[in-house]
Amino acid sequence: MPLVKIPQALELAKVFIYGRGGDVGPQLPRIRRIGSKLGINPCHVLRTPSALNKPGWHLIARDFKKGMTHAEGAVLSHRGEGVMVPSRDCHVVVAENRKTGTVVAFHVGRNSVFNRQNCSGGTTEKALGACDVAYANEEIYAHVLCGICPDHFEHDDLSYVAPFIEEFGPDVVVDHERGTLDMTAVIIAICARYGIPKDHISTDGLCTYDDDRLGSHRADKKEQNWIFVRKL
Ligand SMILES: [Zn+2]
Repeated sequence: MPLVKIPQALELAKVFIYGRGGDVGPQLPRIRRIGSKLGINPCHVLRTPSALNKPGWHLIARDFKKGMTHAEGAVLSHRGEGVMVPSRDCHVVVAENRKTGTVVAFHVGRNSVFNRQNCSGGTTEKALGACDVAYANEEIYAHVLCGICPDHFEHDDLSYVAPFIEEFGPDVVVDHERGTLDMTAVIIAICARYGIPKDHISTDGLCTYDDDRLGSHRADKKEQNWIFVRKL
């Protein structure tokens, strides 16, 4: 299970990516051991839902259940507090509010951006709310971690990407014939609505499809990647 070295772009959180950790259930003891070594409570594990009928959809947890917490993200409000987030092609974002000190780690699936009828921001909107967004938008910084790049996120059925174009403009799709959706651009567009400057958002640029160290549903490397986030 490789540790993927990434630049540490945030001030209030330290982030580690371990790629291709296998399925959530069987890998859990190993994930918890790695978490413990990084100083993270072994119970602070998220189980991220993939569809709106699954528990935890659009939920940003403020505390952790014993075992695993069904949610798309978690608020870290205490120094040293951490969370472990599984993901494959979906990006994981860590946002920090440098004024209030709040850190939020969350998973952004394509479908999670939708509320039922529109593309209003879904999980990302809720996570930014939990990061005290209304309080000091210009103090928020976010780092977008590994996920599928636009070139590998093609859609034969363009009806999947049409609502994104309608809501966020044509630039969130790189090639309009292939429907290559740029989720990082979508995340930046949602952040912009809250007055978070574009240059406050950084990315490690890792593509889960391309990178052999990382699991990817689309590339048929089924293992989960694990993102460990610890508030400093
Ligand atoms: Zn790629």
